[in-house]
Amino acid sequence: MSHKNIALFVAHIGCPNMCSFCNQHIISGKQETATAADVHDAVRTALNSGCRDGQLAFFGGSFTAIERSYMTELLAAAKEHVDAGEISGIRISTRPDAIDKEVLILLKEYGVEAIELGAQSMDDEVLKLNRRGHTSEDIKEASRLIKSFGFELGLQMMTGLYGDTDEGAIKTAEEIIKLEPETVRIYPTVVLFGTELHNLYNQGVYRPQTLDEAVTLCAELLKMFEEAQIKVIRLGLHSGGNVEEGYIAGAYHPAFRELVEGRIYYEKALKELSRFEGGLSHTYKIRVNPKEISKMRGQKRQNIVKLKDNNYICNVISDESLKKYELEIEEDKA
Ligand code: SF4
Repeated sequence: MSHKNIALFVAHIGCPNMCSFCNQHIISGKQETATAADVHDAVRTALNSGCRDGQLAFFGGSFTAIERSYMTELLAAAKEHVDAGEISGIRISTRPDAIDKEVLILLKEYGVEAIELGAQSMDDEVLKLNRRGHTSEDIKEASRLIKSFGFELGLQMMTGLYGDTDEGAIKTAEEIIKLEPETVRIYPTVVLFGTELHNLYNQGVYRPQTLDEAVTLCAELLKMFEEAQIKVIRLGLHSGGNVEEGYIAGAYHPAFRELVEGRIYYEKALKELSRFEGGLSHTYKIRVNPKEISKMRGQKRQNIVKLKDNNYICNVISDESLKKYELEIEEDKA
């Protein structure tokens, strides 16, 4: 028996905003938006594949800003399955300025459990430069309101936005932690065809993060959220869909999280190894949890290669007693 999210895309047709990174205005005509029939089909498919207790997730950005009758039609279809005990609940994502008491009362009535807000940045200047149309105060207010109604709160942030810096992103993460969300998603900015960022990139005004820069920064952010016991449920854009089609530039990798977690292991190992004398005649055993071996090695064994470049020849060994991110290193005297 498996538990998972049953995801449905809700296009925000006619969205009045023009966020610098968004290409909804270009793709919304082409992309299928969910209907009540799609809700029933998706739940049936999930049930047939053995999924019990799945959560139905309406994603696409601005669920509470779409036409009200369309929103309630989707919610009513989903609620039938919550009431029948076929799914555990509903999650939605929306904009911070599309939250008020009235809509939260409505979401409660339909059995919504979790609300995710596209915060993107907590810096008002960055929000303005990227034409988000809301302020950091809107994010704080909406977050407090969502929590006061007893919903699970999720916050989404971006890195590498136009006008943002690494320090700015760290500050955004600090502000997000203060809002005590249960979950966070982190998306490095990708320049998509036809967006405002595409123009700025062509003019040489905007330089997106390189993949390596995004991995380094996101490793810091991931550590911050994990220390605060906030679950990071997504790192990097989903593969497929409009990303690969519209990709122009920016930090995108289909296994971005693996790269970030691999970086955390690499840095930990390097720090630990600095306690030893080193030298190419020395080899080391790095013990990690069996589930973490591929992350310790890194994609295409790049961590092992980089450690060797630093004069540490390492073998990774499985150790059930260690938890995630824990590692133990000893000199291999054999
Ligand atoms: S990201 Fe911005 S422009 Fe795109 S749908 Fe959401 S609010 Fe509208």
